[in-house]
Amino acid sequence: MQLGILKESQLGETRVALLPESLKTLIAQGVTVVVEAGSGALSSASDEAYMQAGATVTADRAMVLATSQILPVVQAPPAEDQAQIQAGAVLVGFLRPLEAPQLLVTAIAGKAMLFAMELVPRITRAQAMDALSSMATVAGYKAVIEAANQLPRLFPLLMTAAGTIAPAKVFVIGAGVAGLQAIATARRLGAVVEAYDVRAAAGEQVRSLGAKFLDVDLGGISGEGEGGYARELSEEALERGRALIAQACARADVVITTAQVPGRPAPLLIRRGAVEGMKVGSVLVDLAAPAGGNCELTKPGVTQVLGGVKLLAPLNLPAEVPVHASQLYAKNVLNFLGLILKKGELKPDMGDEIVAGTCVAAGGAVVNARVAGLLQARA
Ligand code: NAD
Repeated sequence: MQLGILKESQLGETRVALLPESLKTLIAQGVTVVVEAGSGALSSASDEAYMQAGATVTADRAMVLATSQILPVVQAPPAEDQAQIQAGAVLVGFLRPLEAPQLLVTAIAGKAMLFAMELVPRITRAQAMDALSSMATVAGYKAVIEAANQLPRLFPLLMTAAGTIAPAKVFVIGAGVAGLQAIATARRLGAVVEAYDVRAAAGEQVRSLGAKFLDVDLGGISGEGEGGYARELSEEALERGRALIAQACARADVVITTAQVPGRPAPLLIRRGAVEGMKVGSVLVDLAAPAGGNCELTKPGVTQVLGGVKLLAPLNLPAEVPVHASQLYAKNVLNFLGLILKKGELKPDMGDEIVAGTCVAAGGAVVNARVAGLLQARA
C-alpha cells in the first residue's frame, strides 16, 4: 500500500496534507510513503525531514499520482492530475463537493474513491477529524490579527501619562467556530466585543468569552438547523437583523463576519448603507468571502477601501499560517485515515456513518445524494 503526498498546486496554497511527524503510525502499519519534493517547504517541513521519517522523496509528481493508492491532499488536484490517479485509489481532502462538484468529475470517472473532509459528520466521535473546525479556528484568530494590523488604532485600553486610549470596539457576526475564536482573540488583545448569531444557543458561548450578545428578534423564526448548524433564513427574517447589525457596525472599529450556511451562499447581512455608516478608518473582514460574503460590497479575494472603510475578503486565511494549519489538518486527516486503513490495508466500511457521510464517490458512481443532484442539475 503506497500513500503519496503531493505539493499543493493551487495558487496561494501553502499547507500540506501530512507532515513528517504524521508518518510514524502509517509506516508502522507497513504503508510506503512517497512525497513530492517541496511538498512541506512552506509549512517548515523539509524534504530531509520526510526522508528521516521514512518516506521516499521524488520530483516526479506523475509517479506519485499514478502509483499511490492513498492520496491525502489539502485541496483537490486539477483535472490533469486526477486523470492519472489509479482506479480504486483514495483521494481525501477539502474537495469542495457542494460548491464545485464539477471539478471532481475526472477523478469520479476514473473510479477514484473520494472523501471530502468538509462532509465529516459533526458527531462527537468525529471531532478529531473535524478539519473544518480546525481551519475555522485558525481563520478566526488570523482575521483579528489582520484587522489589528490594518486598524489605525490600538486594541487595548491604555492609561498613560499622555492620556487614556479607549479600547477598540469589535463586532463579530456569526459565533460559530471561527467567530468564537475571533471573539477570544479580540478579547485577549483588549478589545470590547459584541457578537451576533442567528442561533440562540451561541449567546451563552459569546457571553462566556466576556463579549456582549446582540439579541435580534427574528419574529419567532428559529435559526437552528440540523447538526448544530444554522438554517438558511428567509429574506424577511434576514431583514429583521440588518438594521441592528448596521447599528452595531456603526459603533465598531472592527467588524468580522463569519456567517455561513453549509452548502449555500453566505447570508447577506451587511448592506451598502451599513458600510457607509461605518467610521472612517474602521476595518471589515468578511470571512464568508469564499461563499460569496456577508457584505453586499465584498469582492472575494480583493481588499477595498470604501469611504475610508477597509474591506478585506480573504479566501484562504489558514494558508497564511501554514505551520500550525498544516499541523492541525494533518492530524485530522491522519485520524480519518485511521478509520479506513486497517493494518496497512484499505478497508473503508460504508456501514460506518463517518466513512459513508464523508464519501463523495466510489467505483465511478457518486454516492453522496446532494452531490449527485448538483452534478445532474449542471449536466
Ligand atoms: P458555519 O461556518 O456554518 O457558520 C458560522 C456561524 O454563522 C454559525 O454559528 C451560524 O449559526 C452563523 N450564521 C449562519 N447564518 C447566519 C445569519 N443569517 N445571521 C447570523 N449568523 C448566522 O458554522 P460552524 O462555525 O462550522 O459551526 C456552527 C456550530 O456547529 C458551532 O458553533 C458548534 O456549536 C457546532 N459544531 C459542532 C461540532 C461537533 O459536534 N462535532 C463541531 C463543530 C461545530
